[in-house]
Amino acid sequence: METAPLIDPFARAITYLRVSVTDRCDFRCVYCMSENMTFLPKKELLTLEELDRMCSTFVSLGVRKLRITGGEPLVRREIMTFFRSMTRHLESGDLSEITITTNGSQLERFAKDLYAAGVRRINVSLDTLDESKFARVTRWGRLPQVLRGIDAAQAAGLRVKINTVALKGFNEDELFTLTEWCASRDMDLTFIEVMPMGDLGGEDRVGQYWSLKDLQARLAQSYTLTELAHRTGGPARYVRLDETGQQIGFITPLTHNFCESCNRVRLTCTGELFMCLGQEDNADLRSPLRSDPNSNVALENAIRAAISLKPRGHDFDYSRQQADGQVSRHMSHTGG
Ligand code: SAM
Ligand code: SF4
Repeated sequence: METAPLIDPFARAITYLRVSVTDRCDFRCVYCMSENMTFLPKKELLTLEELDRMCSTFVSLGVRKLRITGGEPLVRREIMTFFRSMTRHLESGDLSEITITTNGSQLERFAKDLYAAGVRRINVSLDTLDESKFARVTRWGRLPQVLRGIDAAQAAGLRVKINTVALKGFNEDELFTLTEWCASRDMDLTFIEVMPMGDLGGEDRVGQYWSLKDLQARLAQSYTLTELAHRTGGPARYVRLDETGQQIGFITPLTHNFCESCNRVRLTCTGELFMCLGQEDNADLRSPLRSDPNSNVALENAIRAAISLKPRGHDFDYSRQQADGQVSRHMSHTGG
């Protein structure tokens, strides 16, 4: 019997699941985490087997693409076991793609294993090519380690896309350096507008909000930009730089002009499902999952019930948000 796919009340098919596999990270990026984070007790986390059951259930309900994120997904113990177990869905054709968003610190170790498990594309977050600025923005990170990780990923055959958070006064002066560096390594590049997430203790955020409209206008002074029509169902728009052939993306999470094509939901490492990045509404999937170790029926029902509550967009009900659109949870909680 065919299982009915996940269709939300606005007739959007849910085919894309982002999964945060840990809230932990080996970096402390200033816009994402405070220096002294309290992480969840281990028992709160879904085990690797539970993550497998969760993802497999979503796949059986029509999810075609999984993106694994965190925290830093590659610091989760034994995470390769999970990737290897997901390979079966790629082989059966039920899943068309499994990707990962990573800070790159562990890629030197895991790039080959990721490729062997069927991963073909990865996103690496990197805001600067300057070693001391990198140390400042990530607090704990080391640039050479990440660059070695990117080398290892490309050598393993993974297609790498760089994600850069646009920070005024921080990486503004590297716009062209970063673009050219990516072009020289045949990597696409996506800029992310910084979101006001969580209470980061009023710390120096290193940079400030830099509008991607401004960033794009600056790019257009040196390159010919061709707008690309394709959309991914997410908050990214793309242009092609005619001179380099590179694709440049712009992610503006707080705009809502993509909501009508939104095809995604987000699962946290504790099994909460967020139906919309911009809203606090979520559904607990861990309890139904744990309620019956031998059957996924309760879980399936809970997933369907949650999808039936997916809001039209994140501007849908302002009373749920603070006036500036701030959402109180950290990005590392929902994985971006
Ligand atoms: N640790 C991995 C990484 O950094 O790629 C995956 C998780 S991280 C939360 C996912 C993405 O969210 C990264 O590209 C990061 O730059 C972005 N991010 C984190 N906090 C953000 C914020 N306040 N505004 C915009 N993007 C943010
Ligand atoms: Fe860690 Fe990624 Fe957040 Fe940086 S952005 S602190 S690497 S989870």
